[in-house]
Amino acid sequence: MPLPAGSAADICDAPLCRTRRQVEIDQQHSASLRAKREMMRQRRFARARSLLATLAARLGGTNWHAIPTTIVPMIDGKPTERAPDEIERLTSRIDALLDRVFADHDASVALPDEIGERRALSAADPPALNAACIACGGHCCLLGLFRMAFLTEKDIARFRADNPAMTRDEIRAAYIGRIPERSVRNSCLYHGATGCALPREMRALTCNRWQCGPRFDLSRQIDEYGTGGSVVLALAEDHEDFPQAGASLIRAVTVDGNGRLRFHDDLELPPMTAGVGPEVAI
Ligand code: SF4
Ligand code: SF4
Repeated sequence: MPLPAGSAADICDAPLCRTRRQVEIDQQHSASLRAKREMMRQRRFARARSLLATLAARLGGTNWHAIPTTIVPMIDGKPTERAPDEIERLTSRIDALLDRVFADHDASVALPDEIGERRALSAADPPALNAACIACGGHCCLLGLFRMAFLTEKDIARFRADNPAMTRDEIRAAYIGRIPERSVRNSCLYHGATGCALPREMRALTCNRWQCGPRFDLSRQIDEYGTGGSVVLALAEDHEDFPQAGASLIRAVTVDGNGRLRFHDDLELPPMTAGVGPEVAI
């Protein structure tokens, strides 16, 4: 007979017991990760509270809780020339995808399950939401280096279907020609000085679909408040390693009700204080 749930020791060899124990371990691990993430989120907001109030005041508000607000991660990568082997890996990947697209599909390849979503995702986001990625600098694009800009056969096939007059070489040139001369070190090769160098209709569906938790939360607030403005603070993920005040750990951006974006370079992150901890209610 299977042991009762929670019996850590002496699990019998029955597959049911083993499976259930593994499920319990996975659930405990997920719960612990969620608790840790929530604690870190609270610590970020607690440390940045005065900055958020200042930014809200600059937007004409008195309470940052009443304005769409988020804290996103921050990367500070300087655009740099990339190693030839990095470029070679990406171009080889694009060549391989093109080979498959032109061998397996005709230009009218049907992807009905994704067509509507791809078109909707290709539309421009409102400035109040874009502010999140502008302040952040593209933390999620770091993964795009090893995932080859997340491009798949379907992405290339869709671009080809939207541009039936383009030849294989023209599509290749369009993708490879957009690799910027300099891009953010250790990030996707398309991660240029001003963001992604690929227009949305050429990006991977994964890139167009993805948004991190803080940006998703900002989107929800924008819908809820309907103000058109936002306050976004990008904060270095390792900020707790630098408990003293530091301007280099943040990037602050506001968007007013008319969609005007403003950087606030004069602000400095306050030091960590004894009151900044998981018990702080926000
Ligand atoms: S989705 Fe999130 S992590 Fe990615 S660039 Fe935007 S704010 Fe940064
Ligand atoms: S293609 Fe653009 S959006 Fe996608 S990972 Fe690269 S830089 Fe980021």
